[in-house]
Order: sequence, then structure tokens, then C-alpha cells
Amino acid sequence: MEPGAFARLPKMDRVLDAPSLAASSWRREVIRRVAESMLARLRDELREQQRADRPFEVPDAERMAAHVATRLRALELPHPRRVLNATGVLLHTNLGRAPLSASAIAAMAEAAGSCDLELELEGGHRGSRLDWLRPLLAAVIGAPDAHVVNNNAAGLLLASTVLGRPGGVALSYGQMVEIGDGFRVATMAAAGGCAVIGVGSTNRTHLADYEAALAQGASAILWVHLSNFEQHGFVAEVPLAELAALAKRRGVPLVADLGSGSLGAGLPEREPTIAGYLAQGADLVLASGDKLLGGPQAGIIAGDRELVARLRSHPMTRALRPDKVTLAALHATLVAHGQHAAPQLPLHRMYAIELDVLRARGERIAARLGLGGDAVVESEATLGGGSLPGERLPSIALRLRADRIEALARRLRTGEPPVVGHIADKALLLELRTIDPADDEELASAIERALVIEAPR
Ligand SMILES: *Cc1c(COP(=O)(O)O)cnc(C)c1O
Repeated sequence: MEPGAFARLPKMDRVLDAPSLAASSWRREVIRRVAESMLARLRDELREQQRADRPFEVPDAERMAAHVATRLRALELPHPRRVLNATGVLLHTNLGRAPLSASAIAAMAEAAGSCDLELELEGGHRGSRLDWLRPLLAAVIGAPDAHVVNNNAAGLLLASTVLGRPGGVALSYGQMVEIGDGFRVATMAAAGGCAVIGVGSTNRTHLADYEAALAQGASAILWVHLSNFEQHGFVAEVPLAELAALAKRRGVPLVADLGSGSLGAGLPEREPTIAGYLAQGADLVLASGDKLLGGPQAGIIAGDRELVARLRSHPMTRALRPDKVTLAALHATLVAHGQHAAPQLPLHRMYAIELDVLRARGERIAARLGLGGDAVVESEATLGGGSLPGERLPSIALRLRADRIEALARRLRTGEPPVVGHIADKALLLELRTIDPADDEELASAIERALVIEAPR
């Protein structure tokens, strides 16, 4: 390649003044920064191609400006964007976990402006942002007291940092769970400087192992719900109630990380509940707000008044506190749990919807698209969110075939609205259990658009 290629890279001012950027609504210095980073990448690429002695076409200022304009349009897209979850995973962490109820969404909008977050309106004096939520939490969950932090990981960090000093927390090797994306419970428990004392073995842990850890000086016991996996075969775990009795005898707190955070009503009975863990003797139970609770991202810490007070007064609490919008959504979600035997939350509706109703919806969409009866198939959905590993919910999916199935999946993901399904046996499955029935029409139109492009092939 000729050495003058770098000199022919477009000059910044010429790029900024090009017609495709002149009318941009972005401020000039923002455009400049975006253009600079793109020019830097272009230079790297040019260098790379020169090294390999390959030809490289240097774009002119107008073409460069068009690239910058495209990049700026991408930056302007709202994010996170709404998607149609056709994965069949009810609580999909990559898709925002629990979809919020209409009342929770309205509450978030109400709290978004100025609000009485920390003002007691009657007396006109300062209050705590959790004052009005705590009695509701306690009554709905069935706990003496409760605290709320940013997420369950924050609850785990706070509880182990405060209660695990000075001797560390005792945690069974069999419960050292990895939740996903490299998040490990034991690592998070230790992140605040508290030691984690491994107890027993991977497959078998006995009461005597916990006794040994306490004899070593452990300050607290941590119990972790296995969440996303099961152990079979030569396994033994100390029942929570027996562990609670030991903790009581030895005067150390027992913290149970439940994760999924079921409140019971309207969800599978096999999944433990916060109240159930407390009834078995856990002093504190930790749970996520956006798993089986069906609410916003939050960490619920429920249990003993004195322990909750100790956590609440730790300086770290300030760094882990939830914002006003989250608290508003959590409040609305808890009211739904407190007023209805099976809360009408989107998560609970997805869980409870009958197979016949799903099938009728599938057939309606298939008929409208002229897909033929074999496009509606029986399938399986899962709860996700670290609950009920291995348990499948019967579901109905639309089964789409195409010569290039990955391309079809991509077209649906990048359409408007984006639709996320999954590929199985060279077909694209769009699961209806995780689609709100009110979105069926939009789903059908999105499929129609994605298939039309396929047709000429
Ligand atoms: C999901 C989960 C967590 C993490 O909760 P986040 O709310 O995502 O921080 C921790 N522990 C257990 C057992 C979980 O299932």
C-alpha cells in the first residue's frame, strides 16, 4: 500500500461540515468525539491492512460523515428497549427479569419527579425512605422487620460484612452456588472483607461440620438455596431447621439466602418462601425483588428486628440503598401480593395461563399468517431466575422454518419491536407463555415482516 494513505484520511473539519452531519441535532463537540473515535479505529485498521500488504479503501469525508451519522443515530436509540420475550424463560435475567405490573409502572412514573421520598408530609419533618415500606413488607412477607437494598447481591454483601465479623461466615461447600455471569455467592459474601469458612464437602455436609466451623470461631452461618441446580446420589445436607437450632444454641445468626423470593401465593408450592425460611428458624432471609416476587430489582432482607437494625445502621447501607423509582414499584408490587390470593402480576399470569388458552392464541396467530397447523407445537417453558431447576412448564410455541434459521432469528431480534425466541432442531421457536396476550397482534406483525423477506429465496 502506498505510504500516503494516512494523509488521505478525511480531515476532521471536513467530516463535521459534511451535509449528512450538518443538520444533526447532536452538539458539535459530541459529534467530534464520536468522529475522533471512529477515525482512530480507521487508522488502526489501515495500519493493520498495510502490515498485511492488503489494499485499503480510504473513505472520503462525506462517507465518513455518513458512518458517524449512523453511529449517532444508534446512540440515540433508547436503551434498554422493550422486547417481546418469546424465549419461554419467565424470569430471563438478560431480558430484565420480572415484567412489572401496570400499577408498578404507574407508581414509578408518579415517583419520578419530586416526591415525598424522605419527607413525612403531616409533620413536615425528615423521614427515612423506608419508613412507609417497612410495615407493608413485614405484613405482606410475614416477617418481624425488613430492609431493602439495591439487589440480593447487595443484601448478601451487607449481611455477611456486618454479621460475619470477626470470625467469618460458615458456608457449606455444597451451597457455594454460581448464579450466572460468574456471580458466585461465596465470592460476594467475602467481598466486604469477611472470611468465608467452607463447611463439609461438595456432596455431603453434616451438623458436626458446622459445629467444627463454629468451634473455629465463625461469627455467623450462611445458608444458600441451591437455586439453579440439584444434587442427586450420595448427598446429605443439614435441614434448615436443624441448622437454626444449632445457631440458636451457639448464639450466632443464621442468614438464609433464598434468592428466588417467593411469597407463596399463585406460584409453585415446591419453591420455598421467605416466610417458610423464617418459620424454620432463619434469623434473616435474603431475596431478590425481581424474581418470584415479580417486582423491580431490589434486595429484600427480612427477619429479626435487632439484626435488621444492625444492618440498617451500617455505613455501607447508604451505598446500597434503592432509589425512589424502585421503591415506588416495589410498593405497588407488594400491595398486589397483599390484596390478592394470586396476584395479578405479569409473572403470575404467565405462570398460571392454561395450555388451551396458549394453544388458541397460537392457532389464531398461525391462521392469520397462513402458517398451517404444524406451526403450533407443544413445548416447554421454565421459570428461570434461580427457581425450580429442572421443572418444566408445558407451553405452546410457534415453530418457524427457514433456509437460514439464524438469519430469521436475527431479523426478528432486530425488528420493531425486537422479538427474542430460541432455536431448536433447526427451527425457530417463539414461546407464547412468556408473551403478554395483549402483544399477540404485535408479535404476529413482527413475524409477518420477518418472513416476507425470507419468501423470495
Ligand atoms: C439470584 C440470586 C442471587 C443474586 O440476586 P440479585 O438480585 O440478582 O443480586 C443471590 N443468591 C441467590 C441464591 C440467588 O438465587
